[in-house]
Amino acid sequence: MGERERGEGAGCGPERAAPLAVTDRTRLRRMPERVSLDRRDLHAILDAGFVCHLGVLDDGVPLVLPTIYGRAGDRLYVHGSVASRSLRTARAAQPVCVTVTLVDGLVLARSVFEHSLNYRAVMVFGVPGILAGGDKLEGLRALSEHVVPGQWEYARRPSREELAQTTVLELPLDEVPVKIRTGPPEDGDGHDADLPVWAGEVPLRVVALDPVRDRAGRDDAPFPPHLAAYVSAVAARTAPRRA
Ligand SMILES: Cc1cc2nc3c(=O)[nH]c(=O)nc-3n(C[C@H](O)[C@H](O)[C@H](O)COP(=O)(O)OP(=O)(O)OC[C@H]3O[C@@H](n4cnc5c(N)ncnc54)[C@H](O)[C@@H]3O)c2cc1C
Repeated sequence: MGERERGEGAGCGPERAAPLAVTDRTRLRRMPERVSLDRRDLHAILDAGFVCHLGVLDDGVPLVLPTIYGRAGDRLYVHGSVASRSLRTARAAQPVCVTVTLVDGLVLARSVFEHSLNYRAVMVFGVPGILAGGDKLEGLRALSEHVVPGQWEYARRPSREELAQTTVLELPLDEVPVKIRTGPPEDGDGHDADLPVWAGEVPLRVVALDPVRDRAGRDDAPFPPHLAAYVSAVAARTAPRRA
């Protein structure tokens, strides 16, 4: 783990409870009622997702890359090949902006103008640190455990050569605006309320379907309990609830 302190998320140490700081960059100007300064909301959003968009300036040109992330305590991790252009750019002690977006539902209004999405979104501003040695391994563990808990213990760990081919970046969750929209469309009490138009929300979820075994390699490895638990947990979370 190195000298840096880490919190929970991937299972180590205490979580910070302090509200999220507001800076010039993170102050919401439009729809400020949708802001959350609750660090628990931040953690819940990050824990529910695992794909972020990493934005860097590459020679002055914006580059936004979809990539996997992991959270442990108040730190976010991304990884990739040492040859990756975007990670190389991020490595040059440059500010980056990472976004995570969870789409929770379609908000269908009476007017086209009021159509929207229910969502939870986070932006992370900061200058990433490049991890090395034990910290790098710990960052990779955090990533792996974030996506599928138990897989780090189960699968073969990275070799020295594989580690040398991998960049792991760490971003502190210090400057992090959180914006959340929930609820029905906003034209239920306006002049469009009497229109004969169905209005409401269509909830959307990411579901896990039946796992498909890779037919290459040996075929006698049993489906491990931690993956069965993962699939059941996702299924329980996403089971349709009919009104
Ligand atoms: C859901 C998801 C998760 C991913 N997770 C990871 C991860 O954890 N680690 C990782 O290293 N990579 C991941 N990738 C792949 C990643 O998006 C990049 O393609 C990869 O890192 C190579 O980046 P690069 O900067 O070296 O791109 P280069 O190969 O230098 O890209 C050259 C050009 O290819 C195009 N390009 C690159 N990537 C994409 C893309 N994803 N989609 C469309 N066009 C593209 C762009 O025009 C770019 O300028 C993920 C992709 C997706 C969609």
